[in-house]
Amino acid sequence: MMQKNIPYGRQSINQTDIDAVIAVLRSDWLTQGPCVPAFESAIANYCGAAHAVAVNSATSALHIACLALGVTAGDWVWTVPNTFVASANCALYCGAKIDFVDIDFSTGNISLAALEAKLVDAEKSGSLPKVLVVVDFSGRSCDMAEISQLVKRYDIALIEDASHAIGGFYHEKPIGNCQFSDITVFSFHPVKIITTAEGGMAITNSSMLAEKLRLLRSHGVTRDPDLLEHVPDGEWYYEQQLLGFNYRMTDVQAALGLSQLNRLTDFVQARRVLADAYTEQFKTNVPQVITPCMDSETIFSAWHLYVIRVAASVRKRFFNYLRQHGILVNVHYIPVHLQPFYQRLGFKLGDYPGAEQHYATAVTLPLYPELERMAVEKIIQLIQKFDWDQ
Ligand SMILES: *Cc1c(COP(=O)(O)O)cnc(C)c1O
Repeated sequence: MMQKNIPYGRQSINQTDIDAVIAVLRSDWLTQGPCVPAFESAIANYCGAAHAVAVNSATSALHIACLALGVTAGDWVWTVPNTFVASANCALYCGAKIDFVDIDFSTGNISLAALEAKLVDAEKSGSLPKVLVVVDFSGRSCDMAEISQLVKRYDIALIEDASHAIGGFYHEKPIGNCQFSDITVFSFHPVKIITTAEGGMAITNSSMLAEKLRLLRSHGVTRDPDLLEHVPDGEWYYEQQLLGFNYRMTDVQAALGLSQLNRLTDFVQARRVLADAYTEQFKTNVPQVITPCMDSETIFSAWHLYVIRVAASVRKRFFNYLRQHGILVNVHYIPVHLQPFYQRLGFKLGDYPGAEQHYATAVTLPLYPELERMAVEKIIQLIQKFDWDQ
């Protein structure tokens, strides 16, 4: 019998999503039309934040977030090693220097103790960062209140890389609310919670930062009469005021994003139900599996990833076993500091034991809204049959 492989994540596209995209294709505007600002307002409203700036990827959002916060050559930027490379690359795009803060093994998020200790050392050596990029790993918020309190003492700006986390909540407020971060970033890549194919968003409560982000995403060019430095030559007039990029989202993408946003609550609910099913089964029947941190009174994950941990000695065999049975498990993440590019900057094995221990034991199981409950049962049964002692 032919069996269909089960991916670790995938998008959910319905007829309403398709109709929304087709409507834009038939309209006058494929880009720079009304859908992008409508999507931005909808995201800002959903998050309860003042400004949202749509871009063509979360990577672009992280880049212009760093630039808007003034990151430049010679500055330090810190992030965590347990993330996708984009969370660190954004600093290097600005000519800044990158360093990492280890994670807490239980959550996969930044370790407050490691951050506190590193800040004390950096203050002594005069190498405090200009920006800290924290990552809401798997969709679960970092301890943003505590982190923000810590970095404020040193006048460090805070970017929340919430690429995994739209639809999650922290102390009853939606992630993206920006109560504790200067800028929060979402990704709309198809494996993430909602999708625009490629796409991202930078969110902020600061009108000054929002203005900079808008300039940076579109060549540094403005036509806004309130922002012009020179007296306009005429109606055609525009000005380039800084060195920006073409990081714009198209209206085709924004229409898809708007339609997907209407489905966000259902998506996260479906993910949460499946995550609960996995955890309940593992807790009662498979003691070899360390289940991920579950939701608490103050933290509701968006459940982008369901990451279990198994003994490092069996991880590769366990991974191959599931792949051989058509379960396309994955691993999040290879620590960024162990990438060859980062090793050439001087980072080495042993630098961040929390992230390295996480990497050695992590396996990401399939989790997405259209994953069937039957498939979850099948995956659990397969795992129950795995020979842990071979
Ligand atoms: C996916 C991801 C990114 C990059 O998102 P793109 O939209 O693909 O550029 C950045 N950071 C994290 C943590 C991610 O998971």
